[in-house]
Amino acid sequence: MSINRPAPGTRVISHWIDGGERGSKYGRGAPVYNPATGAVTAEVSLADKTDVSEAIASAKRGYTVWKEYSIAKRQSVLFTFRELLNSRKRELAEIITAEHGKVVSDAMGEILRGQEVVELATGFPHLIKGAFSENASSGIDVYSLKQPLGVVGIISPFNFPAMVPLWFFPIAIAAGNAVVLKPSERDPSAALWLARLWKEAGLPDGVFTVLQGDKLAVDGLLESPDVQAISFVGSTPIAHYIYENASKYGKRVQALGGAKNHMLVLPDADLDLVADQAVNAGYGAAGERCMAISVVLAVEPVADDLIAKIAERIAHLKIGNGAGAGGVEPDMGPLITGGHRDKVSSYVDIAEQDGATIVVDGRGYAVDGHENGFFFGPTLIDGLPTTSRAYREEIFGPVLSVVRVQSYDEGLDLINSSQFGNGTAIFTNDGGAARRFQNEVEIGMIGINVPIPVPVAYHSFGGWKQSLFGDAKAYGVHGFDFFTREKAITSRWLDPAAHGGINLGFPQNN
Ligand code: NAD
Repeated sequence: MSINRPAPGTRVISHWIDGGERGSKYGRGAPVYNPATGAVTAEVSLADKTDVSEAIASAKRGYTVWKEYSIAKRQSVLFTFRELLNSRKRELAEIITAEHGKVVSDAMGEILRGQEVVELATGFPHLIKGAFSENASSGIDVYSLKQPLGVVGIISPFNFPAMVPLWFFPIAIAAGNAVVLKPSERDPSAALWLARLWKEAGLPDGVFTVLQGDKLAVDGLLESPDVQAISFVGSTPIAHYIYENASKYGKRVQALGGAKNHMLVLPDADLDLVADQAVNAGYGAAGERCMAISVVLAVEPVADDLIAKIAERIAHLKIGNGAGAGGVEPDMGPLITGGHRDKVSSYVDIAEQDGATIVVDGRGYAVDGHENGFFFGPTLIDGLPTTSRAYREEIFGPVLSVVRVQSYDEGLDLINSSQFGNGTAIFTNDGGAARRFQNEVEIGMIGINVPIPVPVAYHSFGGWKQSLFGDAKAYGVHGFDFFTREKAITSRWLDPAAHGGINLGFPQNN
């Protein structure tokens, strides 16, 4: 085993096991950057097999305590957690910006969307209360209970270090499970902050564990017979790997993957509104959102006008350190790593080689005073061939491509032939066309004049096709179903005078 002790003075971001911070036993670690400066700000511990088994063992102990808590006591912990989160969210937002790079107001936005799920989870007694049928057969009552699964694993991506874990763990914990969260190793501090908040809210030790790490930690969770379910969010190849392997080990699994979201613009749409929304949805969080708009399908004759309007808006965008300077926040921060910036850049090269016109070129973008930051400027592409890898694959950066189509049907065919099925939007004033679109489009989440249609907490989140493997979406009713298992009980209290004696036939209802 390679041992890689951090340099003296390096801040170490550790695991959260048994209600406290703990570094890795054998000292595996990875650097954590501030993407705006390019500086290494800390080292995150990477779990080895001992850390994985200790984390799971602690979660098992936590589960045995937590599942015995009454509903009233569980609810009280959740309410306290919600209050603490709401009052201290700025602290968390700044942590997210320092490791992810997104602007602080955007980080606040992700926390608030996650907080919605905590609020939904506080109402859990109604959602897990089961059902009772009195006298289903003569003298027989049938009822069903929804019980927790036990220890559940959550594996999250870098782009929403607070919101994505919050899609799952409030509901998992409300339902009585113990959670082991494996956050992205690229921005690991938010998870630790959330763990401290749970402790303050009164959650027993072991019910919320943070296991920092990479593939080794993920495989440990997949292989452990003590982990009952896996909720994963990340890129499609890894989501597929998680789905296959969690299934192989007999676990319940939901694995949300990547995306390539299209915005279909009909000629009757208000082009100023469309241009505003395309810029917000294409360049917000530097395009590192699974619901970002990546392709605008402009039904002719509007493409020239729309491209001019988008380019005009891009010229006014401020790009810089997401933490802001002098109280002023930019519109867009950097990408997560230098490696990812280079990958995004290579897709723009591919688009150009395949014959597209780069209307606004973000390659080589530099921010004064932040020359080592991982910045990439907003990029606008026209005439991208739909055979190009830059069209077919997920770029996950601030790159918006306009593809010209001649009709609604041509646009719909392109959307439906994508390997992904996460989100899409239609912009039009024609209610009939929008209604047709919501019926015909093969995508999990649809916006009608709404560019980023992330459903509210009581409607579930999830895509179709290569954007979600498994049967359950995140949060909403799907979340409560995923994190509970049902037990059906058939009960008779015998009346000694009328118990019917011996009868070997199959029981019938009467
Ligand atoms: P990623 O797939 O690289 O990593 C996700 C998680 O998997 C991380 O915790 C990582 O440590 C782990 N991981 C990485 N490689 C692994 C391997 N070989 N074996 C086992 N585990 C591994 O994704 P990312 O770059 O962190 O996040 C961006 C991706 O997530 C994008 O594709 C984006 O579309 C997707 N995403 C999807 C949704 C959704 O709801 N569908 C939401 C957010 C992000």
